[in-house]
Amino acid sequence: MYKPNFKTILAFLLIFFTSFTFAQKKFTVVLDAGHGGSDNGANRNYSDLGLVQEKHVTLGIVLKLGAMLEKNKEFKVIYTRKIDEYPSLTDRTNTANRSKADLFISVHVNSSPSRSATARGTETFVQGPAQNRENLEVAKQENSVIYLDEKDKETFASYDASSPESLIALKLQQSKYLENSLIVGSFVEGNFEKSGRFSRGVKQENLHILRRSAMPSILIETGFVNNYEDAAFLNSEKGQMETAENIYKAIIDYKKAVDRKTGAQIVTKKPEPEKPAEVALKNDFRILLMTMPVKYNDGDPELKGLNYILPIKENGLYKYYYGVTNMASVKDINLKTAKDAGFRNSYAVGFMPNQKLSIGYYNIEVYVGKDKLSANSYILQTLKDVDRNKSNGMFYYTYGKVYTLEDAVKLQKELEDKGIKNTVIQKNFK
Ligand SMILES: [Zn+2]
Repeated sequence: MYKPNFKTILAFLLIFFTSFTFAQKKFTVVLDAGHGGSDNGANRNYSDLGLVQEKHVTLGIVLKLGAMLEKNKEFKVIYTRKIDEYPSLTDRTNTANRSKADLFISVHVNSSPSRSATARGTETFVQGPAQNRENLEVAKQENSVIYLDEKDKETFASYDASSPESLIALKLQQSKYLENSLIVGSFVEGNFEKSGRFSRGVKQENLHILRRSAMPSILIETGFVNNYEDAAFLNSEKGQMETAENIYKAIIDYKKAVDRKTGAQIVTKKPEPEKPAEVALKNDFRILLMTMPVKYNDGDPELKGLNYILPIKENGLYKYYYGVTNMASVKDINLKTAKDAGFRNSYAVGFMPNQKLSIGYYNIEVYVGKDKLSANSYILQTLKDVDRNKSNGMFYYTYGKVYTLEDAVKLQKELEDKGIKNTVIQKNFK
């Protein structure tokens, strides 16, 4: 009979436990401290507390929560910011999507619109059509930071929450994650309540930051800055610590619930080799949604609620491209988003960045119409050297001549800054 000695047992145990720990895939949590940098978020000045600013409270809570999670080997933590800076909402969701995280948590501080300080307590939002008008205030406040970022400004302007198409696209995109978002949200609010806070519950709201993340996501309003008790609590180390602990416990319970649901058990199989970090692709990829003889503008229902659409006119037809990325994972997400929104035949098209056209050039179509532009029109007053053309009874006005798509996008942006909007980049073949 084989008698194992102490050394073999030790070696066996070592191998056993090494594979044990490796076999567990880390559960990635993205922590997003709301606002930051030039965007202070909600704030209120109190004679004894001083200026209580949302951006500082959210960072305080997130750093404490992150430290708790980092101590636990089952978790990997990604921060959208760790200092007082402002990543745009798109940057924040892109960070989350690229990391293929399991959970996205955005931390905020509320404020009620009126001067009265009666509103108090916590509430947690998951993505979805608004349940009631009251929540619109939160949507406005939390989305208003968008207006600091030009790119985001376009995104939000083109999104029409009241259009049924938008809502359908939204639902399709979110239903997959909604259930899990509701689970983690209810744990967070449950813990707040248990620890003596006033919980306003879990609510559905149409928020940019939740809408664009491809994972279960919640936005936690940790209290009202214009309620003295809430503000004093959130401004204190003790209050931030307690808030972080409550969210931490909710994440732990959520992970357990998800593991049970998916039947994910700890297995002692061979460790999978670590995947190398994703490298950028040589090409930029845009998703071609459709080619149409008609020009649609931001927010038109034909665009089905998608943002970041770049129409490029070629041979009199408008090609509608959605998103741009040089990351394969984001390209896949963009394609899926387009298909989910209803563009079943959409596909990814590669663009060589800064590639000069070998034949032809790009210009900007600044106006198309049955009527001639008057010499006093804003466009003709603002721009010199506008080219005009007439064909089939329509007047076409174009501007500029550049040789790369990047320069054309830049030129289009310059025109927009001058107040000339809804222009189209046109590719000319001679
Ligand atoms: Zn906020």
